[in-house]
Amino acid sequence: MAASLIDGREIARLVREEVRREVKELVAREGVVPGLATVLVGEDPASAVYVAGKHRACEEAGIASIHHPLGADTPHEELAELLHSLNADPAVSGILLQLPVPPHLDGSALTALIDPGKDVDGLTPISAGRLAQGVPGLRPCTPSGVIELLRRHEVLLGGAEAVVLGRSDLVGKPVAALLLAENATVTVCHSRTRDLPSVCRRADVLIAAVGIPRFVQGAWVKPGATVIDVGINRLAEGLVGDVDFDAARERAGLITPVPGGVGPMTIAMLLGNTVSAARAQALARAPS
Ligand code: NAP
Repeated sequence: MAASLIDGREIARLVREEVRREVKELVAREGVVPGLATVLVGEDPASAVYVAGKHRACEEAGIASIHHPLGADTPHEELAELLHSLNADPAVSGILLQLPVPPHLDGSALTALIDPGKDVDGLTPISAGRLAQGVPGLRPCTPSGVIELLRRHEVLLGGAEAVVLGRSDLVGKPVAALLLAENATVTVCHSRTRDLPSVCRRADVLIAAVGIPRFVQGAWVKPGATVIDVGINRLAEGLVGDVDFDAARERAGLITPVPGGVGPMTIAMLLGNTVSAARAQALARAPS
């Protein structure tokens, strides 16, 4: 029997609605309007589209958004100064430096300058360390979106065999850490992994984040498994994931489509992080 679909658009809509309610509450109770500052260096069209989408989503949720578009030749010092001023600005709850930055800049070094309390992308070394140690902190958006999809579908993670394909700092590693925090038994695979098909066939929960169109074959999927496809590959035919969807759907129990699976969750979780950051900052400012 074909797998049931995980509808990321619908779950993202629910998360965004919840965020909107939380924003209303925060404004009413604390007089705080959460604010997201975005920094975009250069004119990469895909990045500009992403940033515009984030601003639209903020507006719908009642979050103030402040955009800082900078020229492609902006020097490191100027960006560092901007990030420091955003760190110090009480109207800014969250800071998002849109990656990738132009080649003369070091995206990791710049990201590391963001105050961890405002790191709504969850990508600073301090946020990564907090996640690795299992202490509270802001989590990366796409990985926490993956967990949210599993949670809303009540997929059992405690004791489950979870296999993550990919070990990037952006997706693979944080997804693995979040699954571990949910008590899954986690295997992380990468380009040097031997006999990938048989490792995948062990998975009750299979997460694909490799960036290769239709890489995961149907025969690699354990019957009844939950398959989460993080991949976004732009082909002439349109957007395609990292999983051979038609074949995998025949064996899986639950599966995300591309588009309409993990993709919409990223912005929803970013909004959630911005409200969490605003709440924590309001609490820290409150007289004890
Ligand atoms: P990445 O940095 O390129 O990492 C890819 C990972 O896949 C690496 O760890 C690599 O292994 C592994 N890999 C490559 N070829 C492999 C192979 N033949 N067998 C096993 N593993 C292999 O990519 P990423 O940033 O993590 O993104 C992964 C995918 O998710 C991309 O399609 C990206 O577009 C998508 N994505 C989607 C969202 C969203 O919002 N839905 C957000 C971010 C990314 P090595 O480490 O050994 O090289």
